[in-house]
Amino acid sequence: MSYLVDKNGYYGQFGGAFIPEMLHPNVEELKENYLQIIEAREFQEEFAQLLRDYVGRPTPLYFAHRLSEHHNAKIYLKREDLCHTGAHKVNNTIGQIILAKKLGKNKVIAETGAGQHGVATATVCALMGMECVVYMGKIDMERQRPNVERMRILGATVVPATSGSQTLKDATNEAMRHWISNPLDTHYIIGSVVGPHPYPDMVARFQSVISEEMKLQLKAATGNEEPNYVIACVGGGSNAAGAFYHYLDAEEVKLVAVEAAGKGINSGESAATCVLGKAGVLHGSKTLLMQTEDGQVIEPYSISAGLDYPGIGPMHAHLFETGRVKFENATDEEAMLAGIELSRLEGIIPAIESAHALAALSKISFKPDDVVVVNLSGRGDKDLETYIRWGKY
Ligand SMILES: *Cc1c(COP(=O)(O)O)cnc(C)c1O
Repeated sequence: MSYLVDKNGYYGQFGGAFIPEMLHPNVEELKENYLQIIEAREFQEEFAQLLRDYVGRPTPLYFAHRLSEHHNAKIYLKREDLCHTGAHKVNNTIGQIILAKKLGKNKVIAETGAGQHGVATATVCALMGMECVVYMGKIDMERQRPNVERMRILGATVVPATSGSQTLKDATNEAMRHWISNPLDTHYIIGSVVGPHPYPDMVARFQSVISEEMKLQLKAATGNEEPNYVIACVGGGSNAAGAFYHYLDAEEVKLVAVEAAGKGINSGESAATCVLGKAGVLHGSKTLLMQTEDGQVIEPYSISAGLDYPGIGPMHAHLFETGRVKFENATDEEAMLAGIELSRLEGIIPAIESAHALAALSKISFKPDDVVVVNLSGRGDKDLETYIRWGKY
């Protein structure tokens, strides 16, 4: 499949593994082993069983009657919000924890920004009885108290990153340092389709269960496994990668990725990487990222903590460059309104990340017979405070 990673770890000009020398043995071990491990029948059986009995898969593909009427198209929601822990992230952490076990590791580290990936990691470590250390910027820990406590309840140690801006990138640096010092017994779980090869490919494979199920469910519902559109929000890009994966070569399926425009593309407070970004190296891979003239990473902004990332995964940079995926963006305001719209029309309060994908429904002119799937990446429980502070409902 031409849009997937090549044997050197690249998607077109993007990808690769730009890592410090000291990290080579760790990443090399993963690169040498990941495909063989995850393609083995034993792995596949354990993965499928946990996705079914623990995560609650397959997640429903729900025909949203009133939302369809409102937008004059046939709109289906892929209900990742119904996964255990409330979002798609657990699909990946389940895959990586089984992989860690097969690699003979008994400790796991992760970094987290808003805390969602940290919670998904702490969850699977509890499940497997593995020691779990999550690095989190000190400022993020103060902003995301409930997720910090969730991780602690699950038995994880949350370590504050106190250097630099005390946010995600500093937590990433600390996690890398930890991994360099503990290469033998520790696996590093990355939470999106980002990082050095083979992480983007590995995470995309674990999330691809989303489009695998979609094809079967659409076939049963409409007689055709291919919709006219698949729409997903993009932070790093893992839920979108999963929702697009099995449709990448079906060129007649229009794929739409939605980035967070924050307070507006030109406001200086945004996370719309494809519009504002340039090629560079971020978190170990060559990709598009928001940077200043002299290459300093620009601090991103979005009302949604999960979309507030200065880059996108290398696969998405390639999908953008080739035009295979159309990139839209939605402002804070547009996303919040779309979140309220779904709540009122369907009785589903979406995560604010997912609300960005929903906001794209108003930006596309559909034909009445168009079949549209929106990947509802997560539920809104974690965002209640933000809905309340915004207040317009
Ligand atoms: C983390 C998160 C995202 C963004 O991450 P991707 O890797 O881009 O999918 C989107 N939706 C929800 C609910 C999240 O928790």
